[in-house]
Amino acid sequence: MFDLLIRGGTVVTPYGTHPLDVALAAGRVAALLEPGTPAEANVTLDVHGKHILPGAIDIHFHVRAPAYPERGTVASETRAAAAGGVTTVFEMPISKPCCATPAVVRSRRELFGREAYVNFALYGAPGTLQEDDVRGMVDEGVVGFKIFMTEAPKGRADEFVGLCLPDEGGQYEALRLVAKTGKVLVVHAESDELLNHFSALVKRTGRNDPATHGESRPPVVEAVAIAKLLSMNQAARAKVHIAHVSSAAAAETLRLYQGSGMDVSGETCPHYLLFTEEDLARVGSYAKINPPLRQKGDRDALWEALRDGTLMAVATDHSPFTQAEKERAKTDIWAAPPGAPGVEELLLGMLDAVHKGRLTLEQAVALVSTNGAQRFGLYPRKGAVLPGSDADLVIVDLAAETTIRKETLQTEARLCDLLYDGLTFKAKVDTTLVGGKVVFDQGVIVGRAGDGQFVRAHEPKEVVS
Ligand SMILES: [Zn+2]
Repeated sequence: MFDLLIRGGTVVTPYGTHPLDVALAAGRVAALLEPGTPAEANVTLDVHGKHILPGAIDIHFHVRAPAYPERGTVASETRAAAAGGVTTVFEMPISKPCCATPAVVRSRRELFGREAYVNFALYGAPGTLQEDDVRGMVDEGVVGFKIFMTEAPKGRADEFVGLCLPDEGGQYEALRLVAKTGKVLVVHAESDELLNHFSALVKRTGRNDPATHGESRPPVVEAVAIAKLLSMNQAARAKVHIAHVSSAAAAETLRLYQGSGMDVSGETCPHYLLFTEEDLARVGSYAKINPPLRQKGDRDALWEALRDGTLMAVATDHSPFTQAEKERAKTDIWAAPPGAPGVEELLLGMLDAVHKGRLTLEQAVALVSTNGAQRFGLYPRKGAVLPGSDADLVIVDLAAETTIRKETLQTEARLCDLLYDGLTFKAKVDTTLVGGKVVFDQGVIVGRAGDGQFVRAHEPKEVVS
């Protein structure tokens, strides 16, 4: 007797895409059955014509709660995740205070445990460079670590203490400390010195239009940071993951070091794959993101880097801000906080790319779910539809369309989502299940705060198979 039986769907598994019935029990996938196999369950769902995928795992996500609830709360932003078919978010350590000590990890874990509608993992910031802090955060269950190679954004230092290491000495020490833990260090790679250089050049002109944002941080800023960091890592030997690779130059630099036997991976984000600097001109401060939106050639190079494996994941960098914060900067791009929402469009964007022939369905699933789970030690509990895996599933309709209307989004930052507003994707998220429970169905949130579970990376010995 199963809890739930999902009949008639086509399932994307690590071993291919097949028509299968999926039986769930006790929050896990209990069995994959030949279609129509007699079986009993408390509830049966008929999903003929639909696909069943492992829920998306967003390995780069920001709520920043509990400070600044007007930007978004754990509840609002994980409801947005559920609506987007994202069943696990990896929350970055930007918060007030910054998630850089074991005590802050504990308090955020408790907050997310009370409020989250989907599963969550937490990154720690190793920037205090205290071994006790780093070890203690591992004991509290962080999934990995994160640093910025730049100073904190202007006026926001309070959220970044312990996260920003603009100097090489600090960067090297972070690599060395995290290497000892065996965890992955995620790096926001932009060169602080070059950034200051280009910003000064642009500011001297007196301009403050949207285009100056890209001009103040061109691709070389990103490529140099990656080269410097990975060159240091030849001595420090940490597992490194480059966040939000945005340019052809950055992808090419990453590719060079991947050939050297170093354990280094990278991600990009949907906004770099779908938009360019023309969209920054179109929506202004609402598309101010670090690194900035680039040119068409960069966009094409990123798709190629996904196909050839240079980049192994697509993550959102979902960053809610208030409309007031973005509006204040409408006539002065320098004054806008960087970041935009996007968790509700991640899976839709990648499935639409399947429709357009840019990726196979299996590649899309790997990029938004399986590969992230593998990289951070969660696979096959997460990132796969296999017997024994957690029942974090998304049921999608690849024949339907979704048009983004910002007013109807779940994110508190819905009115900031001008990049995607009006865009139509060939795909629809029908139903999202977290731990076997339906949390989103046919456009409606049906889960509850607290449905999400804390995801702790497990040691290899605990791997289910
Ligand atoms: Zn980020």
